[in-house]
Amino acid sequence: MHQVIIIGTSPLAIVESIYLRKKGKSILNIDDKKVPGGAWVTVKYPDIPEVEIGCHVWSYNRKTYDWLEEFFQMNLGVHESQPKIIYKNKFIPYDLKANVLSVKAIIQNSLKFNFEFLKSIRSKPDIRFSLLPAKYKYPIKGAKDIHFNVKRLIEKNQLELLMDNLVEVVKVVKNGGQLILEGGKVVPFCEELVLTSLSRIKRFEFEDGSSYAPTYREVNYIHRHLIIKGNIRKRFSYLRLMNDKVIHRISDMTSQVKGELPDGQLLICVGLFEESYNSMSEREQEDYILSNMKQHKLVSPDATVLNSDSNVFPSFYTPSKAFEEITRRSNSKIRFLRSTDFVYSFYNQLQRYSSLLD
Ligand SMILES: Cc1cc2nc3c(=O)[nH]c(=O)nc-3n(C[C@H](O)[C@H](O)[C@H](O)COP(=O)(O)OP(=O)(O)OC[C@H]3O[C@@H](n4cnc5c(N)ncnc54)[C@H](O)[C@@H]3O)c2cc1C
Repeated sequence: MHQVIIIGTSPLAIVESIYLRKKGKSILNIDDKKVPGGAWVTVKYPDIPEVEIGCHVWSYNRKTYDWLEEFFQMNLGVHESQPKIIYKNKFIPYDLKANVLSVKAIIQNSLKFNFEFLKSIRSKPDIRFSLLPAKYKYPIKGAKDIHFNVKRLIEKNQLELLMDNLVEVVKVVKNGGQLILEGGKVVPFCEELVLTSLSRIKRFEFEDGSSYAPTYREVNYIHRHLIIKGNIRKRFSYLRLMNDKVIHRISDMTSQVKGELPDGQLLICVGLFEESYNSMSEREQEDYILSNMKQHKLVSPDATVLNSDSNVFPSFYTPSKAFEEITRRSNSKIRFLRSTDFVYSFYNQLQRYSSLLD
């Protein structure tokens, strides 16, 4: 029997596994997907073996960037063109969002006399102000680099994984707990179960006979990759569109697949709203995306779509009030790692994980 079970094989779940293993614990990671990596996986498209599955951006935190670079042994590059928000046809530095949200949080918490929050501002990575936009970084080859290094670390640390198995029910018992998998198989643990914000468990059953079924926020992340023949007019890396009913994000992934595409072709990834995706044909989506990119002067007027493909990644977010409820009712046998933001989720564990660099 394992001492600790971790749900998922995302980079965070894998680093937690390595950390606990170095503390002498026996660990098992369980994931319902066939391939480890969680949201940081790649898709084959069309002749390129590994293309990042969707549009991603990493929040800014210099200390965490340094740690990630050293621990994962991957090169992070400063985006040639920094991430931006498109609001009413204006290109605004993405970093401004951090300033605006920081001011909003401080005002809201001051009005509520939340001194705890105000005292802990220095330890909150998302509360920051900068006159000049911070320099956002990302792995040079995107999720391909992350995925490669996750697989390398699994092998190097000989981690034990149980893939392609969905955990449906968690039962907390006197000396640990039991996980009931889809199909009925039971996997026990004797110390702790570690979940992340994106773990989805149908039902928890506790020692006192009570049970709890969280209501998850379900989001289907839909992305369309396009090979476009044409030239970039305005350099961009990651764009967040604020006033569009069809597109919410656009990323230029051409540099991630350098050498794998003929000259004059671009690899663009576009995040689409589910409703629009379901109501438009593939051709309509391609036409809409291309005309939107031309309207924002991102690509040359003669640009054409050579081909495109889409993927859907369903995600289930645990409501934060459920974290405390589940941890309390399980007598701390269930622990959560908050993980809705990649960089901040590592920042929160940086003190613990710093020993992994020794
Ligand atoms: C589609 C998507 C896009 C994202 N984009 C960004 C971004 O641009 N920038 C950013 O900073 N952060 C982003 N995030 C958040 C970031 O990916 C997470 O911080 C990080 O991946 C942490 O991993 P996680 O384990 O919580 O979730 P995931 O990476 O989703 O991994 C969880 C894994 O556990 C599996 N799983 C869940 N429940 C069970 C179960 N009951 N039984 C078995 N397996 C289970 C899932 O299928 C999945 O494979 C994104 C997340 C998603 C899902």
